[in-house]
Amino acid sequence: MKQIEIKKYLKFLGMDTTEKMSFKNCEICGNKNTKLIKKKISWNNNKYGILPVHCCLNCGFLFQNPRFNKNFYSRYYGKSYGEEVILKKISIRNTVKTQKERGELLYKFLENYLPKKGNMLDVGSSIGCMMIPFLKRGWKCEGNDPFKSFVEYGKNNLGLPVKCLQSEDMQLKKRSKDLIIIMGSLEHVYNPNLVMQKCEKAIKKNGILVLEARGDPIGPIKNFFNQSHHRYFFGNTMELIMRKYGFEPILTTKYPITGPTRPGTQFCIGKYKGNKIKKTFKNLIKNGKRETYLDIIFKLKYYDKINKNKK
Ligand SMILES: [Zn+2]
Repeated sequence: MKQIEIKKYLKFLGMDTTEKMSFKNCEICGNKNTKLIKKKISWNNNKYGILPVHCCLNCGFLFQNPRFNKNFYSRYYGKSYGEEVILKKISIRNTVKTQKERGELLYKFLENYLPKKGNMLDVGSSIGCMMIPFLKRGWKCEGNDPFKSFVEYGKNNLGLPVKCLQSEDMQLKKRSKDLIIIMGSLEHVYNPNLVMQKCEKAIKKNGILVLEARGDPIGPIKNFFNQSHHRYFFGNTMELIMRKYGFEPILTTKYPITGPTRPGTQFCIGKYKGNKIKKTFKNLIKNGKRETYLDIIFKLKYYDKINKNKK
């Protein structure tokens, strides 16, 4: 990405235009060979601009490349994006209701995998209402989110156990959690590997991790790629990042586990088994648990076409 293009984007964000970007290795497999998949993406609803997305040529993972440094993203979340999404009272009420309903459906879906009462962590919990159905059933819960306005509402208005922090800074007790959920936030964090490392330390043996990601495109490709998503998980790459941290995927599905409010998202449920799963991670990719660059191009074209025909 040329400095002049970077400046243009920073100007759009209203941020310091001297920030630099650099190329990163694949966040899942560590491979340094990545190839451009989409140069111009959605900056917001009406504006498109340059912010390249690359595909890892080893495992098929899609992520923004090049990227800014950590401090940039702290400012980005703390300020521009945070302010942009502060909810008005009426939509807070809606969000509370939706999150509660999602939590209830999630509890019912997971009931058979879980102990009667346990300890839960919600990473990127927003207001924190997905934990309410668990709290009601006697679970110990904690959630965190970098958006101050959400967290303060949850804490002050609803008395929920939420903290305002970036998930990279979580401090968790070792082997203390029966359930960790990351519902669509691993795509936004600065360092997904650090977040997963922390989750791995905190989960109990046979504990459950639930990942939710946007999954396959449900609209035109030009809107699928947007600036707030630093990476894009599909079913296969959710399973890969689970395995990298010792979780055995037991179910990967497009079935709307948490109801109809987030159409098209995909879920991966994994059970923590530790080293025996971690060891197999790189060999699995070598043996074909991967998507090629052409697979990804084919997939994007396919969804672009069927989504255009829908309208
Ligand atoms: Zn990779």
